[in-house]
Amino acid sequence: MQTACFIDGSFVPARSGRTFAVTNPATDAVVAQVADGGVADARAAVDAAARAFPGWKSMAAIERAKPLRKLAELMHRDVERLADLCSQECGKPLAEARVEVAYAASFLEWYAEEGKRVYGETIPASDPAKRLLVLRQPCGVAAAITPWNFPVAMVTRKMGPALAAGCTQVVKPAEQTPLSALAIAELSVEAGFPAGVLNVVTGLDAPAITEAFFDNLTVRHVSFTGSTEVGRILLARSAANVVRVSLELGGHAPFIVFDDADLDKAVAGAMASKFRNAGQTCVCANRFLVQRRVHAEFVARFTAAVAALKVGDGRAAGTQIGPMIEDAGLHKAETHVADALAHGAHATTGGSRVKVPGCADRFMAPTVLDGVTPDMLCFREETFGPVAPVYTFDTEAEALAIANDTPYGLAAYLFTADGARIMRMAEALQYGIVGVNDALPATAQAPFGGVKHSGLGREGGHHGIEEYLDLRYVSWRVG
Ligand code: ADP
Repeated sequence: MQTACFIDGSFVPARSGRTFAVTNPATDAVVAQVADGGVADARAAVDAAARAFPGWKSMAAIERAKPLRKLAELMHRDVERLADLCSQECGKPLAEARVEVAYAASFLEWYAEEGKRVYGETIPASDPAKRLLVLRQPCGVAAAITPWNFPVAMVTRKMGPALAAGCTQVVKPAEQTPLSALAIAELSVEAGFPAGVLNVVTGLDAPAITEAFFDNLTVRHVSFTGSTEVGRILLARSAANVVRVSLELGGHAPFIVFDDADLDKAVAGAMASKFRNAGQTCVCANRFLVQRRVHAEFVARFTAAVAALKVGDGRAAGTQIGPMIEDAGLHKAETHVADALAHGAHATTGGSRVKVPGCADRFMAPTVLDGVTPDMLCFREETFGPVAPVYTFDTEAEALAIANDTPYGLAAYLFTADGARIMRMAEALQYGIVGVNDALPATAQAPFGGVKHSGLGREGGHHGIEEYLDLRYVSWRVG
């Protein structure tokens, strides 16, 4: 297991010599001591990436594709090891961690191909003596700041398009989950990336490490996935060097079930959307809006499925709900439940923390709250936990108004069989992603991202690589 920063092709301790403990949130067991890098380490990484940039940029895209594809193959080869490491540092069930590794590899595979299609343009000129060309060029060194909840996939979702475009990169993984990023770095050596193309700086002091991303003109893109609060700080800091930023921030996803929906599919979708990673994902359903005629039936079936979920250590056989990443996450989920119960909602299953023998006290019972109203905390804020509040609505207009009544706009879901309504809702929902009878829309070939307080920019698809490309307009007088 690699535990040091990865700079210029080598694993190196932090310049300060300090390390910090990475612990398993399920058990509090120490997984490893990891290099506690700071601004000097990050500056060294940025310098290495800047040195590697001209060579990487001038390689043919078809050559850059080779190590990208190879790295994806190596991740598939090592899926069990990577999934176990991922589960240990973030607590998610092993079955989910395996899916995450495959999803992570898909960004490398897809962008290995997409990098070959970064086409330029020629524009018909009004002056016959001129030729007007548009080149699309890698913007420079790219920095990535990733969250703890997808320790593998959030690295490759930024790495795939950046490296395929011809940028070099410095990654700062979340302090809770640096080991997966370091495992990817280790495999990148075997995959054959030149030194300095990918660098990883681990550490506890995120503002210090990321200072190196904002005070160096060679860094031309910063991609961040995390909270809206931190996203705002980074957006403000990006002003100094006028750096382009992509921000994937918080969500508050509505999950709307109309009375003509296939309820089996709606319940299966609700389970998949709400309880992945114990509800700790930015696209997970945070508010269930169910039309009155099917409300009782939906709640009964949903409750039965939720009550059957197995809570435990992510590495234990059969676990479906792991721990909350930190005590603060558990407290937030408990606060949202307590607020709802105090204001008239009731729990049809769950409603409190659960003790898992031999584990830390950090597990929240998967919970369904019925009788929720839009003024309750769980309907106003992102819970980021396994809590499913249900509100009963009567009309499409009411559901739409409630769904849009939030500053967030990442993902929304609707379940219905009515084609005209699907189109009306898909256009009127103020969200970057709309899942129609589909609870898991994220995929490497489609643009992922939000509007309003949920972020700027897109990851995935041909749109995702645009973030890393600068347009160069060439006006060429030929006569
Ligand atoms: P979460 O609430 O999911 O933990 P955060 O936004 O706090 O999300 O963290 C996401 C990433 O942002 C992590 O890599 C974290 O270290 C980093 N981060 C947190 N605070 C700052 C900050 N002030 N400046 C730069 N990066 C930060």
